[in-house]
Amino acid sequence: MIVVLLGPPGSGKGTQAKRLSAEYRWPQLSTGDMLRSAIAKGSQVGIEAKAVMDQGRLVPDEVVIRLIAERSQDSDCKGGFILDGFPRNESQAAALDTMLGKQGRQVDCAVLFDISDQDLVSRLSGRRTCVKCGAMYHLEFAKPKQLNTCDSCGSALIQRDDDQPQVIKKRLEVYHQQTEPVVGYYTRQSKLKTVDAREETDRVAAAVHRALK
Ligand code: AMP
Repeated sequence: MIVVLLGPPGSGKGTQAKRLSAEYRWPQLSTGDMLRSAIAKGSQVGIEAKAVMDQGRLVPDEVVIRLIAERSQDSDCKGGFILDGFPRNESQAAALDTMLGKQGRQVDCAVLFDISDQDLVSRLSGRRTCVKCGAMYHLEFAKPKQLNTCDSCGSALIQRDDDQPQVIKKRLEVYHQQTEPVVGYYTRQSKLKTVDAREETDRVAAAVHRALK
């Protein structure tokens, strides 16, 4: 099954993608994670993407489309995969359909994580990520046992550069302008399901399960 997780930054797509991935063995294809890994490696793609990401804007379509086109052909994606953070605009959604069509495949379901901007700002500004294993915490809702230290691997927790208040504002603006039309795109294809993303993680997970059935 090919599933698209759609929703604003901080709506919980990454957390739910990891859960689904562990359960169904569908890899999580997160363009944000791929770009952050390119930045960490210091590759040309990473260097160019960092400046754009730090401003909360979208990196060029051709960059992310290429990342997904390559990764989706790996053998572990044969049984399906979960798209997290892609597509981010209608042209990426159309490019995805074309790409999958050539492989005789299609998106089976798009799940929208519904939540207000107000809830997101408090979520994103308290978010902390492990520098090493990528585990996610929240200063208020999912505290690590020891301040600024990852429970799983003991490494340091950091705040993403793009989770700073000014950048959060810009990312939400970009979401409303460019990504929201993707909701209409999948609605027209009768593939859209909506879950209430304000709920706590287990309840959202249950709602995602129902959506995929
Ligand atoms: P995320 O981790 O999904 O919130 O993505 C972090 C940042 O990476 C975004 O604010 C964009 O700058 C960039 N990015 C991630 N996915 C895409 C995409 N599909 N298209 C363009 N830019 C993206």
